[in-house]
Amino acid sequence: MSIFKDATPEEINRVMEQSWSAFISYRTYTLRQRADFMRTIAAALGAISTTLIPVAMKETNLPEARLKSELTRTLFQLNSYADACEQGNWLEASIDRPIDHHDNPKPDLRKMRVPLGPVVVFGASNFPFAYSTAGGDTACALAAGCPVIVKAHPAHARTSEIVADCIKKAAAQCNMPEGIFAHLHGTGFEVGENLVMHDRTRAVGFTGSYAGGKALFDQAARRKVPIPVFAEMGSINPVYLLPGKLAESPVEMAKLYAGSITLSAGQFCTNPGLIMGIDNADLQQFITALGKEIERAAPATMLHPGIAQAFVTNRSKALEQDEVNIIAISQQQPEENQAIPTIASVTGRAFLNNPVLHQEVFGPYSLVVKCKDLREMLAVAAQMEGQLTSTLMATEEDIQDNLLLVETVKHNCGRIIINGVPTGVEVCLSMQHGGPFPATTDARFTSVGADGIKRFSRPLCFQNWPDSLLPDELKNGNPLGIWRTVNNELTRA
Ligand code: NAP
Repeated sequence: MSIFKDATPEEINRVMEQSWSAFISYRTYTLRQRADFMRTIAAALGAISTTLIPVAMKETNLPEARLKSELTRTLFQLNSYADACEQGNWLEASIDRPIDHHDNPKPDLRKMRVPLGPVVVFGASNFPFAYSTAGGDTACALAAGCPVIVKAHPAHARTSEIVADCIKKAAAQCNMPEGIFAHLHGTGFEVGENLVMHDRTRAVGFTGSYAGGKALFDQAARRKVPIPVFAEMGSINPVYLLPGKLAESPVEMAKLYAGSITLSAGQFCTNPGLIMGIDNADLQQFITALGKEIERAAPATMLHPGIAQAFVTNRSKALEQDEVNIIAISQQQPEENQAIPTIASVTGRAFLNNPVLHQEVFGPYSLVVKCKDLREMLAVAAQMEGQLTSTLMATEEDIQDNLLLVETVKHNCGRIIINGVPTGVEVCLSMQHGGPFPATTDARFTSVGADGIKRFSRPLCFQNWPDSLLPDELKNGNPLGIWRTVNNELTRA
C-alpha cells in the first residue's frame, strides 16, 4: 500500500497539458541548456545521497553498498548523457549540398533529429535509481528535448518522491519551463494506462515485466495516434558452454556462474537463467560444482513481496515440468520474502518441446540444459526467443568449429559475450541493452548508453532553407562544432 494518492484522471490531464506547453518551449532550448539541467540534477542528487540511501534501503531491501553504487551510476548516466547531448553525435546531422546542374539539379537537403514530445517513464522496481525516476529513460528524454512524466514504481514510492523533488528543484534553478518534469503515483494499472493513452503523450519508456510492457505496448498501438513504447522486459540470457572451453576449467566456470546467478538475489534482467552444454563428463563436473556453490549460497530478501511471490510461483511452475530435475537448492531456510537459490536440469529434447521452460524465473534460478550433441544445441539456439544477452563460453577453436551456432546466437540477442557473465551492464556508447522481442519491443534501440537518446527523437529534413533560418546544428558555419556528415563525409568543418 502506497502512502501517496493515486493520480486522478483530472490531475493526469492537467499534468499532460502542462508537459505539452513545456515541450513547446523546451524543444527550442540549446543542447547546452539541456545538458546543464541534467548536470544540475546529478549534483542535487549527489548532495542528498545520505538522505536518499536509507529510504531506498528500507523500501527495496537492497544493501547499502549496492544502492550507493547504483546512485553513483545514476549520476554518471546523467553527466555522461549530458556530455553526449552537447556533443551532438546522436543528432545524426547530415548535409547534402545543392547541385545546380541544368539537366539534373538537386536541392539543398539537411537532416537532424528533433524531440518527439512528452515522454511517460515507468521506473523499474529492481533499479530504484538507475532505471527509475532520474534514471536512464528520464536522462535520455531530457537530452532529446522532451519533458518527462514519471509514473512512480509503488515498490519505492518514497525514494521516487525524494528524487522527483530534487529534479523539480533543479528545474527551477535552471529556469526550465513549468511542466518540464512531473511525478505521479498509481498503485493500479489505471494511472499508467491513462498516461499512455493521453493525447499529449508522444512516447513511453518502460522497464519491468513482459506482461506489463506488452500490455502498454498494445494499448499504445490501439490509440487513435499510435506512439512508440520502448519496453525492456527482461530475458533468460542463455549461456552456451562449448566443449573445448568447458573441458579446460569446469569447476572455475561453475563458481563464476554461481556468483552471477545469485547476484542481488538474481534480480537482474541479465541474470543467466539458462545454461547449455553437451551431456558429458565435463558438463557433469560443472553441474556438481555449481550445485555445491548453490547449496552454500544464502537466500536473500527480494525487492518486494509481489516479486518474492512471483519467484515462488514461477520457480514451482518450472520445477513441475516433465523431465526437470532439481540439481541443488540452498541449504539455508529462507525467511519471509526471501528467494531460495535453485538450480535444475533438463534434457535438450524436453527443453525444445516445452515453451514453459523458456520463460523467465526472475530471481536466483537457472536451468541447465543437457544437449545430446552440438546439433541439438544448435536446434535450441535456433528456437530461442529474442534475448538481451547471450554468452559463449568458448575457445577460438570452439568458435571456428561452430560458426553456424555462433551466427544463430548473434541474431537473437542484443549483446553477445565471450568467456564472461552477462550480469554487469557498462554505461557507455558501445553498450547495447535491448534485443529482439520479447526482450524489448524495439531491437533497433538501446536503453543503456547515450544512443538511448535517439529513442525519443525523430529525423527532420530541411529542404532549401536559407542558412540564417536553419537551426545552429545545420548551419553552414557549424557554430556548435558538432560532427556532421557533409556530402557523405563525416566532418566537424
Ligand atoms: P511490472 O509488474 O511490470 O511493473 C512495472 C511498472 O509498470 C509498475 O509501475 C506497474 O504499475 C506498471 N504496470 C505493469 N503492468 C501494467 C499494465 N498492464 N498497465 C499499466 N501499468 C502497468 O514490474 P515489477 O513490479 O518491477 O516486477 C514484476 C516482475 O517484472 C518481476 O517479477 C520480473 O519478472 C519482472 N521484472 C523485469 C525487469 C527487467 O529488468 N526487465 C525488472 C524488474 C522486474 P503497478 O505496480 O502500479 O501495477
